[in-house]
Amino acid sequence: MMKALRQEAAKLLQEKRAALIIGFAEREGHPALFISKPEDCERLFYDVSCRQNLAAYLSKPEVSARRPVAIVASLAALRSLVVLTAESQAAPGQVLALAVDKDAFLGTFDVAGAAELLRSKYPDLGPEKALLERVGELSKKSVVERAAFWAEEFAKCTRCYACRAACPGCYCARCIVEKNAPQWVSTAALGHGNYSWNIMRAFHQSGRCTLCGACEAACPQGLPLMVLNAALDREALEEFGARPGYDPEGKPVIGSWSAEDDHSYMR
Ligand code: SF4
Ligand code: SF4
Repeated sequence: MMKALRQEAAKLLQEKRAALIIGFAEREGHPALFISKPEDCERLFYDVSCRQNLAAYLSKPEVSARRPVAIVASLAALRSLVVLTAESQAAPGQVLALAVDKDAFLGTFDVAGAAELLRSKYPDLGPEKALLERVGELSKKSVVERAAFWAEEFAKCTRCYACRAACPGCYCARCIVEKNAPQWVSTAALGHGNYSWNIMRAFHQSGRCTLCGACEAACPQGLPLMVLNAALDREALEEFGARPGYDPEGKPVIGSWSAEDDHSYMR
């Protein structure tokens, strides 16, 4: 698998189909690797411990300036690439994916090809069983108990925003938590500000999150962010039929409205 991935990446650079490859380094922690010379592709690495979602780099100006770009993309990162395209954050024709799944190299795909691969071979990606079980356990608790659970977790948050930096869906040039005129959310790493920040982060990802796990992996405080992400993923699927990352022209739930939506909550 590694040989095929490295050879294909080098070929993309040689043929100038990509000017930059973003992959994973072999060393501890598998940080992102930015490669522009074919001979350096020997340094590329991938296995399931590579937790970053490299699609997060696609909306960065430093990367946009070096297009065409190819990223090493897990299935979740492929979905993120499709979401970013639907949200006009990744230029079609300027981004390629070196698709990987566990220990297999699946080939090189443009955005349309990635969406087709997902639709045909992986049509119902969603939270893993263990994660769904954690969501199920929590949903059995009362609203008060759930609020107490999350208050305890959110109290550990130091507002470092590593979760935001790791997420391809968090690409606003200026996040609402940094606005101070007016200040919508307290910036102190305390009580209600922490609660607001964490709920808002998850809410903005609902129907857009591809369950890559990069936010939770980046959190130095060990917050169970995937439980929240998965719960909202299920809500978006059940209430709106949203399964993000399959349609490069699809509209995100959070950014669309339909007369058919359930309006019963308005009184
Ligand atoms: S919210 Fe977390 S799991 Fe969802 S796309 Fe962003 S980084 Fe990945
Ligand atoms: S990474 Fe963790 S500690 Fe940092 S802001 Fe996100 S939830 Fe809070």
